[in-house]
Amino acid sequence: MTTKKTRDSRPSNLDQWDDIYSQKARNLRQSEIRALFSVVSRPEVVSLAGGMPNIKDLPLDRLAESAKQLIVRHGAQAMQYGSGQGFPELREQISQLMTYDGYAPNPDNIVITTGSQQALDYVTQIFIDPGDMIVAESPSYVGALGVFEAYRAQVTHVPLDDKGVIPQALDETLSALEKAGTPAKMFYTVPNYHNPAGVTLTAERRPKIVEICRRHHVLILEDNPYGLLGFHSDPLPSLQSYDPNSVVYLGSFSKMFAPGFRIGWAAAPPAIRQKLVLASESAVLSPSMVGQMAISAYLRDYDWYSQVKIFRAMYEERAGAMLSALEEYLPYCEWTKPEGGFYTWLTVPEGIDTKEMLPRAVTELVAYTPGTAFFADGNGRRNIRLSYCYPEPDQIREGVRRLSVVMDRELELLNIFGGNKAKEN
Ligand code: PMP
Repeated sequence: MTTKKTRDSRPSNLDQWDDIYSQKARNLRQSEIRALFSVVSRPEVVSLAGGMPNIKDLPLDRLAESAKQLIVRHGAQAMQYGSGQGFPELREQISQLMTYDGYAPNPDNIVITTGSQQALDYVTQIFIDPGDMIVAESPSYVGALGVFEAYRAQVTHVPLDDKGVIPQALDETLSALEKAGTPAKMFYTVPNYHNPAGVTLTAERRPKIVEICRRHHVLILEDNPYGLLGFHSDPLPSLQSYDPNSVVYLGSFSKMFAPGFRIGWAAAPPAIRQKLVLASESAVLSPSMVGQMAISAYLRDYDWYSQVKIFRAMYEERAGAMLSALEEYLPYCEWTKPEGGFYTWLTVPEGIDTKEMLPRAVTELVAYTPGTAFFADGNGRRNIRLSYCYPEPDQIREGVRRLSVVMDRELELLNIFGGNKAKEN
């Protein structure tokens, strides 16, 4: 009996349903990061690849007691279906929480989702038909690009610098797309502690970005899971705070608390919120009540802000370890200097292909995410996203040292075979 089950569940190359999959299924891709999971979970490999939050400092015993109390006292509600829009108390609390972003939306305009990843899916679903244009930063969060691709959107990238997306470049791109007859519907952006670029949109640029998008009639999709993880400060005012009617804001408990309950949200203008609720009801009937009530209890009963401060200090220490190791071991590369969040973005000397180099890095027992994961247009071969969120500081240093061994070797080969002068430059 067991043998038969194993045999039948083995994946087959000859898929008898291959001719009837939807276009959406054909466009679903495994992200380059997920594809790395089996390799990087080997204990001898230092992984600078994933974006897993480090939740070692969470008080698990207290959370366990709180979960128990939730079921004992409120089990009948927690184990039941809830509203498609989400648990009202939690929506109130989220509205309060968003005062840190300089604008607290009406709780009625908040829709709870299974992580902000699902909110990304809903927003794309309700705005994008195949072939529609989305403008996104260059680079962009791989999980958003995957959703856009699944819905068969076209993506045009707009450059970032160390101050975030460049307003003039955004304006010019939106104009060029209009001229070409493919106007953008949406601008997707991660303004705080960008994944993967590690940069933050300055206060000065924020109102400009909002004004440009409003002028071009382009909806802003503001994705902000890292906003509370600034090393030294609370977040700058959200883009939404400048014009709530032009922005759908996505938030998440995954990084400021933990991803386990899978609770995120979208805060949207009323008309869009209604569509989001319909999308939610269609996809899940209602988001997990247990998860929502557990998060609600966490926000109510814990000093969650002190916990955020503990996380901030931990990530700051790790970022420091990463940046000093880069200075020591990879001085011929360039990298961004994050003020919060999980990532730095590395630019390597010309001639090195980070995607091709990855297997050699894994042989050297270090993993990273090649830059190509973060572009819809094949760019990024000279980039690497390095995550400092999960490993201990000494592992981070060791990981960067191993990376330098691989990269030094690549450069030597380039110098021998290609006359590459990158290292001298
Ligand atoms: N947006 C960005 C920029 C992210 O980095 C992530 C997680 N890596 C998400 C959205 C999704 O997070 P979650 O679904 O856990 O809220």
